[in-house]
Amino acid sequence: MHPEYGYYQKQNPFGAQGDFITAPEISQVFGELLGIFCADQWLRAGSPSPAIVVEMGPGRGTLMQDFLRGTRHVPGFHQAISVHLIEASAALTAAQKKKLQDSHPSLSWHKDIFDLPKQPMFFVANELCDALPIHQFEKTQQGWGERMVALDAEEALCFTLVPSALSERLNAQYPEAQTGEIIETSPASIQLIHHIADHLNHHGGAAALIDYGYDVPSFRSSLQAVKSHQYHSVLEDIGEADITAHVDFAALAEEAKRCRRAPQLITQAAFLKGLGVDMRLQQLLQKAENPEIVTSAVQRLIDPEQMGELFKVLLL
Ligand code: SAH
Repeated sequence: MHPEYGYYQKQNPFGAQGDFITAPEISQVFGELLGIFCADQWLRAGSPSPAIVVEMGPGRGTLMQDFLRGTRHVPGFHQAISVHLIEASAALTAAQKKKLQDSHPSLSWHKDIFDLPKQPMFFVANELCDALPIHQFEKTQQGWGERMVALDAEEALCFTLVPSALSERLNAQYPEAQTGEIIETSPASIQLIHHIADHLNHHGGAAALIDYGYDVPSFRSSLQAVKSHQYHSVLEDIGEADITAHVDFAALAEEAKRCRRAPQLITQAAFLKGLGVDMRLQQLLQKAENPEIVTSAVQRLIDPEQMGELFKVLLL
């Protein structure tokens, strides 16, 4: 992420006034239930103390605020943990500090994942991997090419294809691909999974990564830009529009297996239902001033036509 012109250096990309809206901003149950997931995993691990709760890419800090409020009555949990937020954007770090200052006595911020305490870790990340860089390869008559960004005759940004040294490997891996089809790979996401799996192997704990993505490749480009809730050209207004790609969960699960973990991939709907989203909704409705709004927000998270099935959870 560029320290000055990077998209997330902008103060507020989220919400109705921003460019897009995410699950924790839609309903408080999202962060609460991720808290319940982690507290449950912590109990099952024998209530280790000290332990770390880690969120990577916390955005406005809403998920962690709901997480910590939702788990404050779990006996011993808050006393055992320190909370670590990994955020690359200075502007969002400042917003998170303001929001979370009274949520827990031990909060710290990190620019990357590499200097966390060596303790049992309970890790969450929502819509992080879709923001990490990808590479794209396109099948041509002459073999596979890598898609690169270049300048056209008018000095505007354009995509171009450069012959790829990985051509033979891609042919072997995707024999069914047709000319013009595209595959994507995100080494940064794979490296992240590797690091999390290593930490869990050495120190114990659990991780949940939630994102939109696929478990079989679609052979199409999933690179997209969104500005003010509208699709936008990827090569225009760089730094002003949110550029993302769908997450290749099969590749992430494969990496986790290589690291001797037994990953599980489930839909967001199944994950939240398993954690008691229906019961939590009933509780909230008893006190809700505006029951329709509360219900439709929760519905949006679990409805298969909305976020319930496109969004998936990778559990380690
Ligand atoms: N989890 C939040 C925000 C999602 S947006 C939510 O659900 O609302 C992506 C977040 O990841 C932003 O906070 C962005 O600044 C952060 N981010 C992007 N790349 C990152 C990186 N390489 N390391 C740490 N954080 C990163």
